[in-house]
Amino acid sequence: MSELFIGGRWTAALDERVREIRCPADGTLVGAVAEAGPKDVTAAIAAARDAFDRGPWPTTPVAERGRLLLRVADLLERDKAVFARAESLDTGKRLVESEYDLDDIANCFRYFGELTASGAGAGRIVDTGRSDTDSRVVHEPVGVCALITPWNYPLLQTAWKVAPALGAGNTFVLKPSELTPHTAVLLMRALVEAGLPDGVANLVLGSGPEVGAPLAEDPRVDLVSFTGGLATGRRIMAAAAPTVKRIALELGGKNPNVVFADADFDTAVDHALTAVFLHSGQVCSAGARLLVQDEVHDAFVDAVVEGARRIRLGGPFDEEARTGPLISAAHRAKVEAYVAAGIAEGAVLRCGGARPDDPTLAEGFYYLPTVLDECTAGMSVVRDESFGPVLTVERFGTEEEAVALANDTVYGLAGAVWTGDVGRAHRVASRLRAGTVWINDFHPYVPQAEWGGMKQSGFGRELGPTGLAEYQETKHVWHNLAPRPQGWFE
Ligand code: NAD
Repeated sequence: MSELFIGGRWTAALDERVREIRCPADGTLVGAVAEAGPKDVTAAIAAARDAFDRGPWPTTPVAERGRLLLRVADLLERDKAVFARAESLDTGKRLVESEYDLDDIANCFRYFGELTASGAGAGRIVDTGRSDTDSRVVHEPVGVCALITPWNYPLLQTAWKVAPALGAGNTFVLKPSELTPHTAVLLMRALVEAGLPDGVANLVLGSGPEVGAPLAEDPRVDLVSFTGGLATGRRIMAAAAPTVKRIALELGGKNPNVVFADADFDTAVDHALTAVFLHSGQVCSAGARLLVQDEVHDAFVDAVVEGARRIRLGGPFDEEARTGPLISAAHRAKVEAYVAAGIAEGAVLRCGGARPDDPTLAEGFYYLPTVLDECTAGMSVVRDESFGPVLTVERFGTEEEAVALANDTVYGLAGAVWTGDVGRAHRVASRLRAGTVWINDFHPYVPQAEWGGMKQSGFGRELGPTGLAEYQETKHVWHNLAPRPQGWFE
């Protein structure tokens, strides 16, 4: 059984509760994990607080902190097969996708290891114009960080928080999704093996209300970094308000994929499929809203439907499969309800809209890649994040209409524009209200470039130099080198 990790020790939950984890691809038992409650959270925060207040991690030289992150990257590469398998069993995603994720995760640790060791963000000396003062702006760790993560990219989202939090010298309590805890457990073991002092990294496993909520409320926590859904983000913001703690919110998206008639047709079709159907649409930046210019609409949608029908579903180890199941029965029911609502509101079902009839998939939470045409902005399936393999298609005539439709959402995480006209590409990119915009591409990201949302997709940035700065306080230290009375009140 996997346990909680508190103050450098593996431990059962205080009330000895246990949760079973089952693979969403076929319902097989993956493992049992300790199920924490509020008292375990209190103990984990106390350990992190103590490790921060007593040190030595917050004042460990940046070169040493950076080296530790690089050692973690090496361990992730060494144990890639173990991590990838665990990730696939928890999420049901294809093994090859978990392997790609593991490469990205190791790269993330490597990036922040090098950034930390380089002294980037260490501070600066200020020219006061006076020779009798030393004025410097320094960056210090924020303190105890609560890191709360979702189930769709469990270890990747965790790495985006853990690596910069440690690089900046913080201590933390990690709460992964209760549905996908196993790679967080493996990560704790890697941190120990890499030499992280006791109490710096703590892991509590359990539900949002019982484990996540107390983390957001506790006055001993200085920062909450959260990745998850909009509704939970609002709750966390409210829970953090009484203690005015710092928060960073990486929330959902309803991302437009805008295709102009002058785009490279075949390439845009190919990417439109991966934009939305990768990991069965359970991607925050999924291109779930396809906006197509009138002239190519019919041919483009026909080609996308043909491609969607060809996508083969299957479990993590089915090498023929191209995408996997949804995470849970409840999540599939939510996706089904959005599709039904869309059809009731006038959308035209072009393919999918049902569970597969393949009996070998009957035990998993599969749902066919679905295309809904003739959608309009007011439909709930267009407005809300269904977070499933559901593509809605809207039409536009002019560039102006495309921009207005693309921005007609409360979200602002990502978006893409496909066109052969460079001027239009950059005009549209600059007008899309989203934290990431792709031109003639969809999905790529690198750890050197910031990731995050505008509007109700949240605030704060992960990755890049800003991703490290999220975990730092800024302090101005003024040193009078020749103090003498001022005589102001004489
Ligand atoms: P979720 O909001 O249901 O849960 C996320 C985490 O919050 C889980 O660990 C959960 O246990 C915890 N939680 C739930 N209630 C809580 C509470 N009251 N207080 C504190 N913590 C609580 O989200 P999910 O279903 O796990 O993940 C899917 C969502 O995550 C989607 O909306 C997706 O767009 C979003 N996401 C965003 C990004 C991004 O980079 N912006 C990346 C991945 C996923």
